[in-house]
Amino acid sequence: MSQSKKQTGGCLCGAVRYEVEGRLRDVIHCHCSMCQRFHGASGAYTKTDQSSINISRKRGLKWVASSLKARRGFCCECGSGLFWEPVDQPDMDPGMEPGMWIVAGTLDQPTGLATIGHIFVSQKADFVEITCGAPQFTEDFHDEIEGDE
Ligand SMILES: [Zn+2]
Repeated sequence: MSQSKKQTGGCLCGAVRYEVEGRLRDVIHCHCSMCQRFHGASGAYTKTDQSSINISRKRGLKWVASSLKARRGFCCECGSGLFWEPVDQPDMDPGMEPGMWIVAGTLDQPTGLATIGHIFVSQKADFVEITCGAPQFTEDFHDEIEGDE
């Protein structure tokens, strides 16, 4: 877990930049079929409160509704995927609690974060072999991952 120093990040070309002031959750790798298409394999995500992130440069930022439940933020100038957040809905699924998921690779290094789990392993691409020792979950049981809040 990252302590509460200010952490910065952004897309490949710099048309999207952000700052996080507050806690960053350790990294969960999502292997769902949507992350496969969006990221090429799995999506490595940290997470923070919506109130803790300030998107300081938004010139390239576009949002796409990737499902009825969530939207993804990406840079329309360089194509980098940056954010995932649940869309407000009356009967929000468990595991869809509010918060901004941030593509961990867009953080400026060093992040101080560690991998704490893999989710949606049931949808994992067949060419991906998970070799790290972090716990694996068939679906979205990330609430059971130690260090997830
Ligand atoms: Zn960009």
